[in-house]
Amino acid sequence: MSHSKKVLLSFAVILACLAGACAWADERELVVYSARNEHLIKPLFDAYTDKTGVRIRFITDKEGPLLERLKAEGESSPADLLMTVDAGNLWHAAQEGVLRPVKSEVLEKSVPEAYRDPEGRWFGLSLRARTIVYNNRRVKPAELSTLEALGNPEWKGRLCLRTSKKVYNQSLVAMLIGLYGEARTEEIVRSWVANLAAEPFANDDAVLSAVAAGQCDAGIVNTYYYGRMIEKTPDLPLSLFWTDKDSDHGVHVNISGAGITRFAPHPEEALKFVEWLVSPEAQNKFADANLEYPVNPSVSPHPDVQAWGSFKADSLPVAKAGEFQERAVKLMDRVGYK
Ligand code: FE
Repeated sequence: MSHSKKVLLSFAVILACLAGACAWADERELVVYSARNEHLIKPLFDAYTDKTGVRIRFITDKEGPLLERLKAEGESSPADLLMTVDAGNLWHAAQEGVLRPVKSEVLEKSVPEAYRDPEGRWFGLSLRARTIVYNNRRVKPAELSTLEALGNPEWKGRLCLRTSKKVYNQSLVAMLIGLYGEARTEEIVRSWVANLAAEPFANDDAVLSAVAAGQCDAGIVNTYYYGRMIEKTPDLPLSLFWTDKDSDHGVHVNISGAGITRFAPHPEEALKFVEWLVSPEAQNKFADANLEYPVNPSVSPHPDVQAWGSFKADSLPVAKAGEFQERAVKLMDRVGYK
């Protein structure tokens, strides 16, 4: 191109930008609002930038503030993508109208139906299993069966749970409502509360520590917390138990996921990025960083995660975690689960 033509082209781009149609200049950039920690997402962003040249800017914060920010920014939000954990959170973001529905054959093929929004506003990127952890010096696996059975009388004074204020437990109870209905779920949760060895704990790590210390014999945790703790202290007397063996239902799973924002400045680039995140190339990087399970069934978990044994995941769509969340919160309040 001649020098004068280049000058003319630059001039045209500047005019287009002034007119508000500045797509050409910043097309190769994405802005992500993430409730996932930087150390879990930054390596993925860097790998994508290396591969495609798309620059990814991001902020991390808690789910609540990010959602408020998206709502306050409205049309002028720079965010293309919201990344967060728990289907309850993603469902809530969709309800608040900050996510846009997208149609993508790649996403529909790579993400099983149960792990995405039926309306295409959010998609799972990894799976997290919430199951029983027990003290293997005090409990034999034959004493364990289902989550419900932890409410049986022989477990009196032996159970530790995380607080009901955490979305993980709200989603777990919401999914139980989806499986068993509200009345049966209320009986189950009430029976857990009756069996508690201690007041509910602030986080899953505290539950694991209490089980390891023998303060209680069993608890319910996301398996990656178990994985991290065992990585650091391999001789702790902790084992996982999969709750699908004696049940009509599979193990409770939830997702981490993402949705493209309603006012995304770069929706096509954002979609390409999400499609890449569920590809075999990215899935292990994404899931392994937190010892989670790939959402794409064609990808195997990390060998350390596989060593915990295999299980059948429950087939109930995780969107139910959002749908029944409010009922779950009220139910837990009713039965005195703090
Ligand atoms: Fe977590």
